[in-house]
Amino acid sequence: QSYVANPDRYSNAQFRRCGKSGIQLPLITLGLWQNFGGDDVYETGRAMLRRAFDRGVTHFDLANNYGPPYGSAEENFGKVLRTDFAAHRDELIISSKAGWDMWPGPYGIGGSKKYLVASLDQSLKRMGLEYVDIFYTHRPDFDTPIEETVSALAQIVRQGKALYVGISSYSPERTKIAYELLAKEGIRLLIHQPSYSMLNRFLEQGLLDTLGELGVGCIAFSPLAQGLLTNKYLKGDATQNTRASGGDSSFSKDLLKPETLDRVRALHTIAEKRGQSLAQMAIAWTLRDSRVTSSLIGARNVAQLDDSLNSLNNLAFTEEELKQIDQFAVD
Ligand code: NDP
Repeated sequence: QSYVANPDRYSNAQFRRCGKSGIQLPLITLGLWQNFGGDDVYETGRAMLRRAFDRGVTHFDLANNYGPPYGSAEENFGKVLRTDFAAHRDELIISSKAGWDMWPGPYGIGGSKKYLVASLDQSLKRMGLEYVDIFYTHRPDFDTPIEETVSALAQIVRQGKALYVGISSYSPERTKIAYELLAKEGIRLLIHQPSYSMLNRFLEQGLLDTLGELGVGCIAFSPLAQGLLTNKYLKGDATQNTRASGGDSSFSKDLLKPETLDRVRALHTIAEKRGQSLAQMAIAWTLRDSRVTSSLIGARNVAQLDDSLNSLNNLAFTEEELKQIDQFAVD
């Protein structure tokens, strides 16, 4: 079906400046890690992308190995770009990454220049793009000198294959090093992508301060703790159609410990009092500090996406609510 973008898509859209840069990102970004791959129903993913854009989501987050199979989320996204978003490329911030495993052998994983440069070329082909807006080193690789990883990012920017660069899951110390090495190349580190949720507050232990001081943006991934911070596990182990039931190795059953589920239930009660779903409160909570530029969500279908985007209707927290949340929002 042909697609005409919602003409009102920007009327209620909210943006935040990404550190000290010219880029503003939507408060909520849609990630394509899961549910957009070759094993998933293409039209469901396509419908989510259209709905997101229609509601002012201008940023889509990808990586080389999102699928399954690896590469297929980028292929599917490329298809939607051609069929639906062709007229809107310049309204979009599209990111990709390399760092985790992608192809066999030593050049298909890690932080080497060999891997990063080749992987981005492949990503561009899959998506049918000449450049991505943001390219990330997906994780720190302690076996590769950080100078090499950073010089690969710098080369990619100079070649025009990415407009901006980012890092993911780097410690505050490594973030500073990467920032300074890039600065020596005349390139600003645009953004850091850490995980952050009410069940994972590592970001608050120094990293967010570092990002604020450096003027680097922050996009927080898995704000719903992969679905745990929603209403689906309140009654225990959800059996149908969830990440936990899908045998997905990235969703550890350890997450569903009784103590954790007790905390999730308590948080759900607080969300109810705010007149929000737990998912909505969980997303809003990650955005309560303006140094967090965007909350990077996943979704299985349009209904979930809509529910999550509606968190923007109530982003404010009272001191009292934050105190209550702190009792249960612990790692
Ligand atoms: P979330 O924490 O948002 O989890 C998404 C899952 O939560 C969905 O698949 C669904 O689970 C459930 N869900 C979403 N919305 C709702 C809702 N409104 N009501 C009920 N359930 C809901 O994020 P992800 O873990 O998916 O990660 C988001 C993105 O972050 C990724 O796509 C990727 O772009 C990025 N990321 C980056 C990483 C990195 O290393 N840099 C690592 C991980 C993610 P279910 O399918 O069970 O229904």
